[in-house]
Amino acid sequence: MEEEQQGIRTEICSSGKEKPKSDQLEFGTIFTDHMFMMDYTADKGWHDPRIVPYEPLNIEPSAMVFHYGQSVFEGMKAYLTSDGDAQLFRPQRNFSRMNHSNSRLCIPPIDEAFALKALKQLVGLEKDWIPEAEGTSLYIRPFIISTEAFLGVAPSSHYKFIIILSPVGAYYKEGINPVKIAVEHDYVRTVKGGTGEAKTGGNYAASLKAQEMAAEGIAQVLWLDGVERKYIEEVGSMNVFFKIDGTVVTPALNGSILEGVTRNSVIQLLKYWNVPVEERKLSMEEVIQAHKDGKLEEAFGAGTAAVISPIGELVRGEKHIEINEGNTGAIAKRLYDTLTGIQYGKIEDPFDWVEKVKDLKQTTLKASG
Ligand SMILES: *Cc1c(COP(=O)(O)O)cnc(C)c1O
Repeated sequence: MEEEQQGIRTEICSSGKEKPKSDQLEFGTIFTDHMFMMDYTADKGWHDPRIVPYEPLNIEPSAMVFHYGQSVFEGMKAYLTSDGDAQLFRPQRNFSRMNHSNSRLCIPPIDEAFALKALKQLVGLEKDWIPEAEGTSLYIRPFIISTEAFLGVAPSSHYKFIIILSPVGAYYKEGINPVKIAVEHDYVRTVKGGTGEAKTGGNYAASLKAQEMAAEGIAQVLWLDGVERKYIEEVGSMNVFFKIDGTVVTPALNGSILEGVTRNSVIQLLKYWNVPVEERKLSMEEVIQAHKDGKLEEAFGAGTAAVISPIGELVRGEKHIEINEGNTGAIAKRLYDTLTGIQYGKIEDPFDWVEKVKDLKQTTLKASG
């Protein structure tokens, strides 16, 4: 398998698509000229890694992924620095998390180092697609789907691992602004023993209803644990942090929470700054009590898309809990500025989080013809 994976066959498309204007970008609507793909079969393992033109897939209607949802995905970004370099943020963690998700979904593991090499090759080739405007980036979506044509319920024996790229606009077009969040009591995202700590499509399918039922003006829902509906888990598709009486608290990883790369980075930064941070069980009651006592200082979500999303108000039935007078807190702002500063190469990276990507546009074009 090693040898077969050494070379990545590259098929350059004859004419590229027109690139969108940086200031008109949205999220996830436009895709670049090429994608990475490789296949898995039980007899060959992962094989035929290739970079090919982005185009529709040819898959059997009986492919298992359409029926039983055996799939995993990842999300990360490539950023352009002011020197014109492309860089990734902690990409190894995404591929190791992908293998963690694979294990839960009975999908065969990928070679993480090889996946990173393939990603760098793809991003290097598509470098001109990384938008330049402030806050924009190239969103990276690696995913695996089960493709065996079979309606039996069992792990598939065929898979496709694909990476697609999408230029995305700035999350905050008019500056970082706090959002209103509803505490969800009727629906749960997942439970311990379920698939909550895997990044798999089913978790998202399960989350749609709560968001749809949420009142107007509610940006995301705050998920409570699926058993007691008492302990805080996540907010929307972000990990969540509360600053209570000087200490930043985030729910401990408990088997139903997704371990965010941003979450891990936030915890490391807070420790580096000597800001007290705790990973532990945190009940909704404790947050409400802290608010009553005047000790609930900040709340924010953390994830790749928004980086940091300050929470200005929590809604729980008839009750409204305003946090930090609806303003972005000092810690949220400092984390946002530092993380984005590192990602865009504007400030020093003391943790070696950033990984440069070589521009391969010229070399690949030459090599292929
Ligand atoms: C992807 C995801 C996150 C955030 O993870 P990052 O690696 O920080 O982007 C948080 N919660 C859920 C449920 C997720 O799917």
